[in-house]
Amino acid sequence: MPSGRTHDRITLWALPWVTGFAFVQTRNANLTLLVAGGFIFGGLMFGPDLDIYSRQYKRWGLLRWIWIPYQKSLRHRSFLSHGPIIGTSLRVLYLGSIAVTVVLFSVVVGEKLGNKSWSWRIFCQTWGRSLLAYQREIIAVFWGLELAAMTHYLSDWSGSTYKRLRSSGIRGLLMHGKINKRQAIAQRRRRLRAKTNANRRKQRS
Ligand SMILES: [Zn+2]
Repeated sequence: MPSGRTHDRITLWALPWVTGFAFVQTRNANLTLLVAGGFIFGGLMFGPDLDIYSRQYKRWGLLRWIWIPYQKSLRHRSFLSHGPIIGTSLRVLYLGSIAVTVVLFSVVVGEKLGNKSWSWRIFCQTWGRSLLAYQREIIAVFWGLELAAMTHYLSDWSGSTYKRLRSSGIRGLLMHGKINKRQAIAQRRRRLRAKTNANRRKQRS
């Protein structure tokens, strides 16, 4: 698996290509800028390696603690952090729900303090309208984030394939899938046995 520094370098090297690709697809400077911005943010701060203590995680500075529950609930390189589309979607939902909680809390406090411009109704209307009006922009940012994540998955995957190839040659690489399958079956059997034993013990007591 490539180091955080290598991932950073890959992001920066890929940036001009992604920008060019976005401009060819959208023919729109604003949308291109949003894709590029999403790509840099996704590559340097909002990537799949937020599931461990990584460069991406450290870059959140004082706010890094918000990712601790995310790390605790996901295994490193699991499908939920390193899976195409699902990884980015989950991170967006995670950060989005934190942001919404903070904003809602501020609205409640503002309302309690008697600030009339901070009401639920105005808040929901403004957000609803913005989401509808900026759909294209939101999608552009999402694609920037997702392209950064895809670059990450690809370099993780090619890094580990290269390592396996160096350590055990093509045969080892071909065998890897089979070994994994065999290991998974053995693990499942062991778990099943443990469960049956536990049930038996429960029945006896
Ligand atoms: Zn990774």
